[in-house]
Amino acid sequence: MSNQVVIIGGGVAGLGCASALNAAGIPFTLITKDVGGRITENSNHTVNYGAYYITADYNHILPLVKRLHRISLLNFQFHHPGQAYSMLGLRAMHYLPQLLRFRQLLRTFRQHLRQLRQDALDEEQSVLIKRDPYLWPLVNQAATDFVREHHLVGLFHDYIEEALYATDFISLAEAQAFDMLWLAQPLIARSYEYSFDPTTITQPFQSSIVLATVATITPQADGYTVATTDQQSYASRYVVVAVPTMTMRQLLHTNDGKEPVSAYMYHLQGQLKPAYAKRRYHVFDDHSRLVTIATQPDGTYLIYTRTPWTDFSTLFSNYTMITQKVWDPAFNVIGSALTKQNRGHGLYVAGEHNICTLEDSYISGVYAARQIASQF
Ligand SMILES: Cc1cc2nc3c(=O)[nH]c(=O)nc-3n(C[C@H](O)[C@H](O)[C@H](O)COP(=O)(O)OP(=O)(O)OC[C@H]3O[C@@H](n4cnc5c(N)ncnc54)[C@H](O)[C@@H]3O)c2cc1C
Repeated sequence: MSNQVVIIGGGVAGLGCASALNAAGIPFTLITKDVGGRITENSNHTVNYGAYYITADYNHILPLVKRLHRISLLNFQFHHPGQAYSMLGLRAMHYLPQLLRFRQLLRTFRQHLRQLRQDALDEEQSVLIKRDPYLWPLVNQAATDFVREHHLVGLFHDYIEEALYATDFISLAEAQAFDMLWLAQPLIARSYEYSFDPTTITQPFQSSIVLATVATITPQADGYTVATTDQQSYASRYVVVAVPTMTMRQLLHTNDGKEPVSAYMYHLQGQLKPAYAKRRYHVFDDHSRLVTIATQPDGTYLIYTRTPWTDFSTLFSNYTMITQKVWDPAFNVIGSALTKQNRGHGLYVAGEHNICTLEDSYISGVYAARQIASQF
């Protein structure tokens, strides 16, 4: 076979795989439509249009990015119809016991997540999650049931649902407890905006990257033929499929993975109305079409909505649209399906299919690389 390993997809999962193979001295070809995937920024690297924050425990991602300012809940304004409030004041004081209890639950979850991330370098995420008697029930429990069971309904209604909606674009009623708990980790882990320069990671294997779109993966007796839309084909013993869930389904003819969530992003400059001018981040209740307004370091604004938005004069006194982007889907986070990574016969799936974070996507790529390296 001319190429021993083909990686499809140059997001953090594919880059994690490429980096680990490169370190092991194993040649590969990385075929991708772009480098960075859902890490995508404006042209002067000041505004993140995709993955927005990292947390201090993203051990694999931290060396690849430049950490910018810290995201603090004290800079959040929470909006319910007819009401706006912050983390300061009597309302928040009232929920202090619930907040302390929730933080303790998040710490317990974090211990299991840390262990999962460590073990997932060498074992399937799905196997590890099912084996953990604490994590597995959470995958199958609705987030709303978890909230009721732990007597956190008021805190979630007034604060946590809005903060989660700003990161996953779904209502609490649509989420599983497992996903809600990794999504809520920034409540106990320091989180930061960041910038990413892909050359930091790709420089050692730049010549192995082919910019193309993969159309098909065809099994052969001794591996696979990977064909691109520009009529090139690559014979390979091992294939790592590190593309978003919807594309993974098409390429592998499977229904695996969770269900998709879409979001609409608008980048604007202008003058926000006084109701939104006070704090850096504005988050909204999870029935609202408006999901978040985030002030950017350069004084511009990112707006996220659940459905298309046209009437920006409700938010701004004056504005100019810089750009807009539809994330359709943004990611697949609805449901409790877990995706198997080792598909047999030298075929691996990497990416965020089980946990939609940069860190877990990267780790899934390293897992595929280590499995392949162990067979060389
Ligand atoms: C709006 C938004 C906000 C987010 N916020 C955060 C956040 O704050 N923190 C966080 O940790 N995570 C966040 N995430 C999730 C995070 O971005 C993803 O979990 C992570 O980037 C997934 O990496 P990946 O490599 O699996 O997929 P991707 O980054 O999607 O990479 C897939 C790669 O495959 C390529 N590709 C696709 N199809 C083909 C094909 N047919 N042929 C060749 N190449 C192909 C693409 O070009 C891309 O390079 C966010 C995601 C979105 C969309």
